[in-house]
Formats: sequence, C-alpha cells, structure tokens
Amino acid sequence: EQRDGDQPEFKQAVREVFETLEPVIEMHPEYEANGILERFVEPERVVKFRVPWVDDSGKVQVNRGYRIQFNSAIGPYKGGLRFHPTVTESVIKFLGFEQILKNSLTTLPMGGGKGGSDFDPKGKSDAEVMRFCQSFMTELQRHIGQFTDVPAGDINVGGREIGYLFGQYKRIRDEYSGVLTGKGLEFGGSLARTEATGYGLCYYTQEALRVLRNDSFEGKTVVISGSGNVAIFATEKAQELGAKVVTASDSNGYVYDPEGIKLDIVKDIKLGHRGRIKEYADRVPGAEYHEGCAGVWSVPCDIALPCATQNELDGEAAKTLVANGCTVVCEGANMPSTPEAIETYQANGVLYGPAKAANAGGVAVSGLEMSQNSYRLAWTFEETDAKLKSIMETIVADSLAAAKEYGVDGDLMAGANIAGFTKVANAMVAQGVC
Ligand code: NDP
Repeated sequence: EQRDGDQPEFKQAVREVFETLEPVIEMHPEYEANGILERFVEPERVVKFRVPWVDDSGKVQVNRGYRIQFNSAIGPYKGGLRFHPTVTESVIKFLGFEQILKNSLTTLPMGGGKGGSDFDPKGKSDAEVMRFCQSFMTELQRHIGQFTDVPAGDINVGGREIGYLFGQYKRIRDEYSGVLTGKGLEFGGSLARTEATGYGLCYYTQEALRVLRNDSFEGKTVVISGSGNVAIFATEKAQELGAKVVTASDSNGYVYDPEGIKLDIVKDIKLGHRGRIKEYADRVPGAEYHEGCAGVWSVPCDIALPCATQNELDGEAAKTLVANGCTVVCEGANMPSTPEAIETYQANGVLYGPAKAANAGGVAVSGLEMSQNSYRLAWTFEETDAKLKSIMETIVADSLAAAKEYGVDGDLMAGANIAGFTKVANAMVAQGVC
C-alpha cells in the first residue's frame, strides 16, 4: 500500500483480485513460502520515457511513454498500448496486472505487460500521429522483441498506429518479426483480430448464459457503451446472435435507438471519418442523443456490456440497471465496474462476467497472430474465429471449475481470478525466486 503511493486504479485492481484469492492461499502454503503475492504485485520492470515530436505548426511537443513488463512466468510479456490523456503509471499498472491473469486464462503462453502514453490523438493529423508513433517506437524498440515483449493496440491504438509503430521498429532493428500484434493483413496481421475482443465477449456471454441459465442472446435487449473497436464488434456479434442492441456512446454522450442500432452507420461515423456518436441521431430518424456518457446505464435492458473504459459504471448506475430488469453484465472494457457496482451485481444475482475473462478474446487472437507469424502462414477467418470461440468457452469452463474447487460455486469473477492466478503462481514457484 505504502510503496505504490497514489495509484488508485492499480490498488483497486489488486484488491479485487486478492480478496478472491484467500481460499487459494490457505490451500497452498508454498505460495506464501515463495513470496508469490509480494512478487505478483511488483512489476519485473517499469520503463518510463520522454516522447518528443514536432506538430504540424513546427512546435515541439513532449509526451510521456510507458511500458510495464509485469510478469513473464508463462511467456513473453504481452499486452496493449493505450494513447489517451488519462494515461498514468497507475492506469498502465492496473492494466498490466489484469493482463497477467487474462493471458493465463487464454491457455496460450503469454506473460503480462501493458504500455502507452498520455498523447491524445483526437484532432491530430495523420502526419502528427505518425511522427508521434515513430518517436514512441524509437525508445520502445530497445525494450521489446518477438521473444521478449509483444505489444498490441488498446484505446486509440488501432490499425493505423500499429502500422506506423511496426514500420519504425523494422527500420531501426532491420528485422521483420512478429513484434507487434494487430498488424495489417498485408504485413503479418491475423484475420479476426479486429473483431476478436467484441466477438469473444459475446461468445463468453453466450456460453455463460447457456451453462448457468440455459438461456441465450436470442430476443434480449442489450445496452452497450463505447463505439470503438470493442463496442462495434460486440454489437455486431450480439445482433448476429439474435439480440437487439439499443445504444452506442462515446466520451461526449450516448445514442438510444429503440429500433436497434444500425451498425453500418456507427461504422461509417467511427471507422469512416473518426466522427462523434451524436451524428447518429442526426442521421437516424427516431434515435435520441443524450449528452453525458454515464446516462447510457439508465436505458432499460436485459444485458449490459460496458465496452468503453475503466470505472464507467458505478454503484448508482448498477442499481439503476438492476431496477430496470438487467440480469447480466459482462465486461468488454477493462475494469469498467467500480467495486460498488460489483457489490450490487453480487447482491442481486446478476450474472457477472469480469473483464479479464470476458474480454480475453482480443489477446487470445493476438496470441494466435504470434503463432501464425512464427509458422509464417495465415489461417482463414473461419479457422481463427472457431479457435476464438473455443477459447472463450474454455475460459467459462475453467473459471467455473476453479470456483467449484475453491468453494465459490458459480462465481465467474472469483473463478477467473483463481484459474488465472494458480497457473502463473505454479510457474513462479517452479522457476525459483526470480
Ligand atoms: P477504442 O479507442 O477503439 O474505443 C474506445 C471507446 O471508449 C470510444 O468510444 C471512446 O470514446 C470511449 N472512451 C474512451 N475513454 C473514455 C472515457 N474516459 N470516458 C468515456 N468514454 C471513453 O478502444 P477499444 O474499443 O479498443 O477499447 C475499449 C476498452 O476495451 C478499453 O477498456 C480497453 O482496454 C478494452 N480492451 C480492448 C481490447 C482490444 O482488443 N481493443 C482488448 C481487451 C480490452 P471517445 O472516442 O470519445 O474517446
């Protein structure tokens, strides 16, 4: 607590996990003897660096870059890069910490890491984004590599940014390798990576509904927040599985479309010209726009899928969801629910799918991208999508099996923490104190 100073997001993430690990520590005295918990919360390495770049008017701008290499017990560090003005060491640390457990749950050999910068790409020209990415990679390249640390995208880091970052890595290192995932299909990217987190979230939700409630998405009303990569493809898959998705949002506000969101219009606004979600209501008769993104949780639904950012759904919002009949919350974003919101789900029997399990599809397909890069071949969309679906179903099964083993039957949150943790902890014990 003392050593980490003012790092609220990181402490929130650790508390949530450690509370559920008590029965595990009791049953495994070797974890305590090996200082597993103490080592688990201490990143192996924190890299913090200056990112200077020149804007279109010729002025020098300086941002701060981070790469936190948290845990490499079960594979090379793996986790995304986030470019957003709210990025701090605490935010990157919480994301890196969650990533260790998430990557473990995917069943693939990947350690945990995360990085990013407080750079805000909003309103920047392509050339500015490129110069920023090149400067960021000029420092980052000395810390990463296909066998060491393989970054990917996250908020505001999509195909465009990964392309610029990859180009600069190749140029400096004179090496063509799978050092980043989320690459373009022409240069080593995997089919289905773009869709993976959103699709995976729906596969996870569908499987949890099937196993725990003998139910499905069919005929359900769904509220989704965000309108970025995760939200768009969660909407697409939920619609395909027979649900009606009635909302989309961004950091300014949300739209409610009682007829169901027309995804081609959202894609045109967000992927076509990086516009604001408000435009949807101007283009679709009958749709309403409301200022303020938090209001999205007041829309009645059966299933809520938060897909924007951390702590976007607080205790009050959770109570409103429950009062309006929502019985399922599965997380596409990382740590979108505050601790008070989680308490509300638990007190009201809400089927709660925590982020590290429910949104693991993105990094799972990143892992599959690494495999394809090593083999120097490319699988079809159908092949990759089928592997994704099977991984998400395995995550539900493994979480429920761990929950049962440790006396918290049916608890997907505790089960995910326990299943993810024990694999990494066992590897750490086996590798000695390092
Ligand atoms: P994008 O940048 O594509 O989209 C982010 C969306 O969230 C945008 O609609 C954005 O609105 C909104 N948003 C961002 N910050 C805030 C904020 N502070 N308040 C309100 N809304 C905000 O990112 P992704 O879709 O990739 O990521 C969304 C979430 O999913 C993040 O938590 C990320 O860590 C998580 N995630 C992503 C994965 C991936 O594969 N991409 C994998 C696993 C998790 P605006 O445009 O106004 O900023």
